[in-house]
Order: sequence, then C-alpha cells, then structure tokens
Amino acid sequence: MANWQRAMMKVMRIKNYPVTVSSFEDLADSYRRITFHSPQAVEALEGFPTEWVRIWVPKLGAVDGRIVQRGYTVTALRKELDEFDLEFVLHEIPGAAGDWAKGVSPGYEMEISLTPARPKIPAKCEHLVLAGDLTALPAINSWLSYADELDTPKITVLLEDAHGSTRGFPQQEHAKLDTWTWVSPTPVLGTALAEELEQILRKESDVYVWGAGEKELVKRLRTVIKAHELPKEAYFTQFYWILGRAFA
Ligand SMILES: Cc1cc2nc3c(=O)[nH]c(=O)nc-3n(C[C@H](O)[C@H](O)[C@H](O)COP(=O)(O)OP(=O)(O)OC[C@H]3O[C@@H](n4cnc5c(N)ncnc54)[C@H](O)[C@@H]3O)c2cc1C
Repeated sequence: MANWQRAMMKVMRIKNYPVTVSSFEDLADSYRRITFHSPQAVEALEGFPTEWVRIWVPKLGAVDGRIVQRGYTVTALRKELDEFDLEFVLHEIPGAAGDWAKGVSPGYEMEISLTPARPKIPAKCEHLVLAGDLTALPAINSWLSYADELDTPKITVLLEDAHGSTRGFPQQEHAKLDTWTWVSPTPVLGTALAEELEQILRKESDVYVWGAGEKELVKRLRTVIKAHELPKEAYFTQFYWILGRAFA
C-alpha cells in the first residue's frame, strides 16, 4: 500500500490516524456530509477556522490497493462524541475522493493525516471577505463559526457556483455576516466572482480577503487583490483543486 505520497509524509513526520465512517447525509444532490469517528484524530484536531485533513482513499481504477490523499476541511468537530464531519462536493468527473464519497458505507475504516497548516487570523479590519467556490464552503462556514473571535465588525461571503440551485448547501449564520452572495458563473471561471470582489475593493480599503477554490478562479481573485495593492497581511488565497487535472 505504500506509495510516494505516503513515503514523503513519513519523511515529513506527518502522522496518520485511523478513522471509521459513522454515517452520511446528502444535504444536496451534489453535496454530501460524512461523519467520522476517531478518538485519536479528534484529540489531535484543534478546531481553528479552515482546519483540514488529508484523507487516504483508493486510487481510481487501482487494483493493487494503491491509495492517494486528498484535502478536506473539518467541519463540526464534536470532541465529546469523538466525531467530526467532512463535506464533499460530489463532482461529475470521476475522482478518487469524489467517487469514494459517492459510494461510502458506514463502518468503512481508513486513515487520515492532519496538516499543520494554520490560517493567518486577520488582524483588526473593518471588513472580512470570504470568497471561493463550493469546495470552499466548509472553510467559509468554519470562519463564520469562529467569527466571535475575529476583530472585524463585518463579514461578506462571495461564492461562485454553477449548480443552479443552492438549496441544501449549509450556510452558517452570524451577526457579523453582512451579505452572502451566490455568484452565477460566466463562461470563464472566477470572472464573475472577481468582479464582485472588485466592487468591494473599489469602495473600501480596510478589508481582509480570504479566498480558495479552483486554481484559475483563485488566480482571478489574486489579480484583483494585486490591482488594489492589498498588503500581504491583508489577504490569503489557496488553490483547492485544478479543473481538468487529478490532484496528484
Ligand atoms: C486545503 C484544502 C481543503 C479542501 N476542502 C474541501 C472540502 O471541504 N470539500 C470539498 O469538496 N473539497 C475540498 N477540497 C478540494 C478537493 O480536495 C479537490 O476537489 C480534490 O481534487 C477532489 O479529489 P478527487 O479525487 O475527487 O478528484 P481528482 O482526482 O483530484 O480530480 C479528478 C477530476 O475531477 C475534477 N474535480 C476535482 N474536484 C472537483 C470539484 N470540486 N468540482 C468539479 N470537478 C472537480 C478535476 O478537475 C479532475 O478533472 C479541498 C482542497 C484543499 C487543498
């Protein structure tokens, strides 16, 4: 079962934890929440916004037991029950993690590894803008769950999604949440989202931008951020997936 990804992680001293699937729930046709049980992993998880894990799933089409890792954001950490949830976008193009999530059964045992990646918690700012696509929804909700701790009075969510209906997608509420906008995509991914961000940055200067999602979409957000010369400490962006390419 060993392969280069696992070997690399061993070198980096990244530890694996056994987890068992407890249950799953379809929040929408394309969006599944899976609950995992693992006293060991839950003890190690911290519950900070955007905290994510690598799940190890069977490599697509592999008959030799090879597995691959994919990143997923932890939601709803329930320490008292030794449980946590991950939420999966069930995309149509075959993928190891997406297909695994589509066919999951309670009782399935697997391993996850934790990542040391911690987000930069924005310093005091007037406006926190959370932008991305559906893969960023769990992370955006995790920011909103943490909003009491944030030194900002106003939060905006901008989410570009092509599914047509947003029914069933979880939306965390918070008193600081000013606007939640589902942005309809134009043919070029991320253009409409970047335009929404542009509108905000044109009017306001004391803004922190967090953005994640498909690579080209995130690049378009970065272009707007750069054009407005936001200082490095006023934004964080991350590629979560690449259109037309398996993660690794
Ligand atoms: C830090 C981090 C946190 C993440 N958190 C989440 C999360 O909470 N929930 C979540 O759903 N995803 C999340 N992702 C994204 C997820 O890891 C990727 O979408 C991943 O590529 C899915 O793996 P796969 O094996 O299904 O597809 P892959 O084997 O990587 O790709 C196969 C094909 O599917 C396409 N594809 C992959 N993902 C999508 C998608 N979302 N929509 C449409 N097509 C796609 C690819 O372009 C490729 O053509 C996160 C990624 C990172 C790095």
